Amino acid sequence: MRFKTVCTGCSLLCDDIMVDLEGERIVSTFNLCAHGEEKFIKARGTERLLKPFVRDSNGVREVSLDEAAERAAEILLNAERPVLWGWSSSSIEAQMAGIELAREVGGIIDNTGSICHGAIWFAASESGLPMATLGEVMNRADVVVYWGSDPGHSHPRHLSRYSVLPRGIYTQSGYEQRRVYVFDIRRTRVGKIANTLIELEPNKDYELITAMRLLLKGRKLRVDKVAGVSTKILEKVIQEWKERDFGAVFYGMGLLASRGKYRNLEALLRLVWEMNEYTRFVVLPMAGHFNMIGFNHVAASVTSYPLGIDFSRHIPYSNPGETTFAEMLQRGEVDAAFIIGSNPLLNFPAKLARKLTRIPLVVVDCFKTLTVKHATVAMPAAITGIEAGGVAYRMDSVPIILKEFLNPPEGVLSDADITRIIVEKVRKRKN
Ligand code: SF4
Repeated sequence: MRFKTVCTGCSLLCDDIMVDLEGERIVSTFNLCAHGEEKFIKARGTERLLKPFVRDSNGVREVSLDEAAERAAEILLNAERPVLWGWSSSSIEAQMAGIELAREVGGIIDNTGSICHGAIWFAASESGLPMATLGEVMNRADVVVYWGSDPGHSHPRHLSRYSVLPRGIYTQSGYEQRRVYVFDIRRTRVGKIANTLIELEPNKDYELITAMRLLLKGRKLRVDKVAGVSTKILEKVIQEWKERDFGAVFYGMGLLASRGKYRNLEALLRLVWEMNEYTRFVVLPMAGHFNMIGFNHVAASVTSYPLGIDFSRHIPYSNPGETTFAEMLQRGEVDAAFIIGSNPLLNFPAKLARKLTRIPLVVVDCFKTLTVKHATVAMPAAITGIEAGGVAYRMDSVPIILKEFLNPPEGVLSDADITRIIVEKVRKRKN
């Protein structure tokens, strides 16, 4: 049997994936990149977490989901500053249940965006966010800019599906009609196909963007180079951009991790706004996890804050740095954590990861990750987009419906259902 489905390998959420099934076995797939293929192969791999377990003074023992949820509720209610973290690889439905859970236990809910692409919400609140859908980019963009991002690694089908190669309504000549600009500190994969590659010095993004804004305003620079880039080249780039019809700037972690952090993005957003005085320009995040952007939308619509939301005051409160997970962990404030679809023990710096191993951890995951191996309570989840349905927001904030096409392993529920069960347990304990 053949199914058309969506790949959740990254936030591009490619919706043209074909899967051939024989019973419960995937026999072939079409249109997946290697990254997505890996996700589909892993679905039936040996590294699946299949049974809930709890860890106590007697060691680790397998338990029923009900018992694991009961213990999770106990841990979260007993903690003073529990943090619910992850959520970028969960459906919107799970994220909504997570916000309920945080509210019930008076905890903090935060997603992985707070250490990467969440910066867009702070930058956008100061300078606005000129955005477009990927469909518009495909149909209109004749300037494509990758800034600190290499889709060859992170979003392998980005160029072929939306930005560079496809022929759109107003871009009938496809690649020949578009000009590709890459700003990076090294020659990346996408840099090799760029019409203009700007190799800038590390940590100089802010200076470069500021210089480009000045050039756009017609000012003359009194230096030959900015951030290692010739002023003449910058003048040429600005002139070319002004003469084109539609520009799409895709920024990645290279911009956000460079000195200046979200201020770099704020400056880039201002440059993009200013370009709109001459032509149409938009900016889009190259978000990583498939529903990172979704969490920010859901959290903002329910609580008014996109991330790092603290319910300990009985009303939502957020102050990035004060109520975001990594910083709270650093200060030793977190006394229990609920981790869903994330592996901080592997991905956090060793100093922070060590702090995590000293507090009770409730983990919901599909796989036996390092964080699962250290969990106090672990609960297996179905894989969203393969074994469980739901909604996720693509990198351009377009909601995409995910449908399940395989049955999850016996007794394994979706992360949304597991979170709802814990919410019920917490409510019962409180009454
Ligand atoms: S680009 Fe991303 S969403 Fe598309 S197939 Fe590859 S991993 Fe999946």
